Amino acid sequence: MTPPRIDLVSDTSTRPTAAMHAAMAAAEIGDEQMREDPTTTRLEERVAGLLGQQAAVFLPTGTMCNQIAFLVHCRAGDEIIAAANAHVVGSEGAGAAALAGAFMRGIETPTGIFDADVLADAIRPARAKSPRSRVVVVEQTSNRGGGLVWPRETVDAVADMASRHGLALHVDGARLFNAAIAAGLPPDAFSARADSVWVDFSKGLGCPMGAALAGSRRFIEAAWLWKFRLGGALRQSGVIAAACLHALDHHVQALAEDHAKARRLAELAGRTLTIAQPRVETNILFLDTGNAGMTAAAVADLALAQGVRVGVEGETRLRCVTHRDVTMAGVEEAGTILAEIAARH
Ligand SMILES: *Cc1c(COP(=O)(O)O)cnc(C)c1O
Repeated sequence: MTPPRIDLVSDTSTRPTAAMHAAMAAAEIGDEQMREDPTTTRLEERVAGLLGQQAAVFLPTGTMCNQIAFLVHCRAGDEIIAAANAHVVGSEGAGAAALAGAFMRGIETPTGIFDADVLADAIRPARAKSPRSRVVVVEQTSNRGGGLVWPRETVDAVADMASRHGLALHVDGARLFNAAIAAGLPPDAFSARADSVWVDFSKGLGCPMGAALAGSRRFIEAAWLWKFRLGGALRQSGVIAAACLHALDHHVQALAEDHAKARRLAELAGRTLTIAQPRVETNILFLDTGNAGMTAAAVADLALAQGVRVGVEGETRLRCVTHRDVTMAGVEEAGTILAEIAARH
């Protein structure tokens, strides 16, 4: 397949820049398992500081961060409360059940966001016959909610409610930096209250791979055991950690441009397609093709024939994700193409 000219399927399609490659080539390295890789250690300290946590550990993927957090927080039979459309519920192969023996209580919320009252209703009373409610998950930003930002006050209220009932607050921060940039707040505004939180480097930050899980020193020491058990302990990971440090230096502020691109795409495609989310806050845009009388797959096929790739999320729902490897001009072209496909029909 020839790659699409304008790929809006995911911000994971971003590739290392020449400057990132140079930083990787110059990395000082050692054996990470022995905690002797200086670049990885530097990244972990930096991430812990940014997220307002004591310590952090470098891991290959965000999925492994989620699963290790659940393994540390939960005993078999414990319950994890998360939005029903969260990544941890639908996109990780039921890992919490398969690995930690925990199960998911999904809260129905189209935005992927719920408030402290809804959490309070979902927490089980402490009875011998009830599952133990153990973890609540905040997905920042909400992926299936169209990249919406959990407001800081909501995160704080959920943190208060969680701690009152003995639940751990776990923040899936795959796009936490997007939230921070969109809200004009430092990243720790969304993570300092968490018992565990991670950020992904392989999304809009443009690294080939890598994620870092943060928490208390004690939590991170417990996470290290699972890192070994799951095969996530690494060797000269500094080559990758150098890319992540480079992204923290050079790619975080630029996320604002991705958000501007998503707003522009909404403006153009929204002329004939319905914007299927309350607000365009970050880099994810859902479009509904129903009012144009077309399926999402039909629109996506016609767009691909013109070099624009978008995701099919449902029968009439398209998902577009902007990122640093599509230009504003590319986004304008994609928006015009999508609008014309719907108008012609
Ligand atoms: C991508 C993503 C993950 C998983 O991260 P990987 O690095 O791909 O394993 C988890 N949660 C959300 C919200 C994501 O978007």
